[in-house]
Amino acid sequence: MQAAAIAIDGQDVRLHRILSAMQALWYKETIMQASPTAISYEKGRYKETCGPCGAVFEVIVIGGPMAKSSQEQVEEYGCPECGQVDRCRGAEPPRVSLISKRTDGG
Ligand SMILES: [Zn+2]
Repeated sequence: MQAAAIAIDGQDVRLHRILSAMQALWYKETIMQASPTAISYEKGRYKETCGPCGAVFEVIVIGGPMAKSSQEQVEEYGCPECGQVDRCRGAEPPRVSLISKRTDGG
């Protein structure tokens, strides 16, 4: 009887460890998924008129955590209408949203 009880206790401990490990893994994944948006911030936004096609779009520049410019690099973004590539400094690619369509008829 006593041996059986110990075995059950042992199983409980193993199960508990597995659950704890799974919980830790889930927690870690959740934090890792959440962190890029949680620690980065909107550094600034500006309207840009595309030279080649004339489309107007808003660029939202994403800054690094704690405003450390050392964690930023050159990010490329494209005109949503013609794909003309431009660059800015940021922690991740900026978000681009079209305001008015291209004016060159293309
Ligand atoms: Zn364009």
